[in-house]
Amino acid sequence: MPDIINLLPDSVANQIAAGEVIQRPASVVKELVENAVDAGADEIIVVIKDAGKTLIQVTDNGKGMSTTDARMSFERHATSKINQASDLFALRTKGFRGEALASIAAIAHVELKTRQESDAVGTFIVIEGSEVKKQEAVACAKGTSFFVKNLFYNVPARRNFLKSDSAETSAIIDEFERVALTHPEVSFTLINNNSEVHRLEKSGLRQRIVAILGKGSNEKLVPVEEATDYVKIKGFIGKPEFARKTKGEQFFFINNRFIKNAYLNHALIRAYDQLLAPDTHPAYFIYFDIPPHAIDINIHPTKTEVKFEDEKTIYAILRSTIKRSLGIYNITPTIDFDTEATVQINPLRSDESVKAPSIRLKEGYNPFAAPGANADLKRHNTIDDWQIPDPSAFKTDHPAKGAAPLPNQTAFLLPDEPQETIESSLDELSGEPIKKTPYQLHKSYILGHIKTGLIIIDQQSAHERILYEKYIRQMAHHQSYSQQLLFPLVLNFSSNEAELLNGILPDLHALGFEIESLGKGTFGVNGIPPELKENEVQISLDKMLNELRQQGELRTGKKEFLARLLARNMSVKAGEKLTEEEMQHIIDELFACELPYHSPGGKPTLITFTLEELAKRFRK
Ligand code: ADP
Ligand code: MG
Repeated sequence: MPDIINLLPDSVANQIAAGEVIQRPASVVKELVENAVDAGADEIIVVIKDAGKTLIQVTDNGKGMSTTDARMSFERHATSKINQASDLFALRTKGFRGEALASIAAIAHVELKTRQESDAVGTFIVIEGSEVKKQEAVACAKGTSFFVKNLFYNVPARRNFLKSDSAETSAIIDEFERVALTHPEVSFTLINNNSEVHRLEKSGLRQRIVAILGKGSNEKLVPVEEATDYVKIKGFIGKPEFARKTKGEQFFFINNRFIKNAYLNHALIRAYDQLLAPDTHPAYFIYFDIPPHAIDINIHPTKTEVKFEDEKTIYAILRSTIKRSLGIYNITPTIDFDTEATVQINPLRSDESVKAPSIRLKEGYNPFAAPGANADLKRHNTIDDWQIPDPSAFKTDHPAKGAAPLPNQTAFLLPDEPQETIESSLDELSGEPIKKTPYQLHKSYILGHIKTGLIIIDQQSAHERILYEKYIRQMAHHQSYSQQLLFPLVLNFSSNEAELLNGILPDLHALGFEIESLGKGTFGVNGIPPELKENEVQISLDKMLNELRQQGELRTGKKEFLARLLARNMSVKAGEKLTEEEMQHIIDELFACELPYHSPGGKPTLITFTLEELAKRFRK
């Protein structure tokens, strides 16, 4: 019997492999643009004709290739990006498989012009169906240009399966935008059949997103930021009221690589909770930065799927981060007392422990550090009901005995054993001081006992009032309190924002911000108001600038306006759990205010129910 096994010629092997990497013109665009980014280009131009079927041209001003490398780059498994298997776990580049160019060259007519800065002349290579047709020296600009013509000319089956030109073009635009969204520091241009689809200048992330989404989108975005030991998250989410019927504007990026992930999408949507109208989808642009060794991007050739070492942890962090951003931007709904809300009380089952419906990672609390806490996290995780347990819930101060209701779901139930916390400044309201412990209702309202009946304080409005008066005093007396940062922050703003920011620097200084302009939209922050958390500085300033811009001409003085903005930013929000001390503090401070009854924005800070009113309501 003769031997029958042959090694496939490279051209055939490449063609087979190409099927995995290059499915449609958009795949070529993705691979070439990613290569350009990996080559350190800061200007990338993509030109397509006939949905990329006739021509895809990608030109960059990156580092270029030597003549040998240019020739080598078309070999399968030729890559400059990894040397050994262990490099796979420290990847920061987009490519690494060394398959793209080999694949493209197997199924198209490809021309390459490339020159390194140090070389006098560049290299020109023509390759068709994996066969080098021409290689010569050429005068060309620094960087690399690929011309990919007649895609799938030798794979008719593939060619016939391509969709309409508009569908293929739209897929190309998607791929182009995904890369552009991860590299705002690179300028990108996309030209389709001689008309310009995108010209994206170098910018900050926010401006890049806005440039892609289009005019008017800036106001719709809320910044997101979180940094834990395990993962850093940044980006923007759309305000719920701008959620759309389509899912087009949803992007997750891991280490600057676009990915799809239904599980994380679920976390994000859950964070919006009740805020979305039915069948609408919020926009999001979420960037995860995670140590490369904690993910495996190697599971799919087109690499939009990613396997995480610990997906549940990311789920938890993402959800709480989004919740917090929605909360900071004050777009979580507040409970309306006028509506006849029915309070649902779910008795605890005997096998159930108390889960605090808290959404906030406590500062300094790292649920992933201690193995015990981590186990708890996992135990509580199901896809449908993901509550991040608040550690304090496990040493509950309202012990849930038997079938007692959850503390947060108890309406109007004042503690039985009041301590004697006496608040004499309430005298004027009630004629007699409070002698009971305050109680927090739905993490939004502070309930107190007064002689004449019941007082309900809106924690957020009250705290806004307290902070507002404090800031006004500070500004009037030029005595700001500032918390010095160990490591100064460097923040970047658009030229528009920088302009505004420069105009309010003295006022911000009076409010406790030590900020200086470093030029070109960059600012250094050395100190911040003590109430402000370091990781919320950018968000707060963004928000202030945004409001300042929208406001245009100010009706009140600038100082009042800023004090109000900062107070609103800094205040505790509805939905935040307060300790007894914090509640007492708010009560104390509120009644020390000059105008305790209204927030700076004019909302009531408190309402009272007299015993008579209550009695009347219970009378049949
Ligand atoms: P990978 O990106 O996975 O390494 P590719 O087949 O996409 O594999 O590219 C092979 C190699 O060719 C790259 O590793 C890189 O060294 C080189 N290369 C490709 N495109 C460019 C470019 N635009 N500029 C400079 N070098 C490039
Ligand atoms: Mg590549």
